[in-house]
Amino acid sequence: MKYYILFGPPGAGKGTHASAIAEKYNLKHISTGELLRAEIAAGSELGKEAKKLIDAGSLVPDAVVEGMIESAFDTIKGVDGFLLDGFPRNLAQAADLNAILAKRGEEITGVIGIMISDEVVRKRIAHRAAIEGRADDASDETITNRINTYHAQTEPLIAFYKEAGKYYECNGDQGDIADNRARVLALVETIK
Ligand code: ADP
Repeated sequence: MKYYILFGPPGAGKGTHASAIAEKYNLKHISTGELLRAEIAAGSELGKEAKKLIDAGSLVPDAVVEGMIESAFDTIKGVDGFLLDGFPRNLAQAADLNAILAKRGEEITGVIGIMISDEVVRKRIAHRAAIEGRADDASDETITNRINTYHAQTEPLIAFYKEAGKYYECNGDQGDIADNRARVLALVETIK
């Protein structure tokens, strides 16, 4: 099985390009953000707890997202692998993911980094707020906290995966969506 991680700051285009990658390589796309928003929409206890943290621009507890990921690995069949989007998001989650995969005799195939500047993050999220109506996109304070959370907790994963020889990166804000998608797909082709 292949295990790809789609990596990048909020608004980098992970969700936008995920389906093209997943389709090309017969992968199941798993977005922890989408799974959490589904819990919120369903009004579950987990969703209620998660909403407070998400609306503050903080991360939800590691155990919550790790449980979602493991249950997806256990239950989803008929694919050649997984495309993880928004997970892992800190070093503890990355270490736990290695352990979860090791237990199954598997390992990370590659990390696909899509990079944009903080300025582009702000523009993209402001634009998306008007289209998708996500509460965590609507407030400047939340967006600032998410950018800070990314730099403090998520960005260190780049060095972690570089060290493991698994990090691949391209730019996410040159040209239009199709240009960026082509660049991302070309990058994935280079992962062996
Ligand atoms: P984006 O990358 O566009 O900001 P996501 O949909 O990936 O949005 O995530 C939205 C929010 O869900 C995050 O700001 C965070 O609060 C929560 N979340 C998603 N994935 C994780 C994760 N792996 N660990 C902790 N919290 C997460």
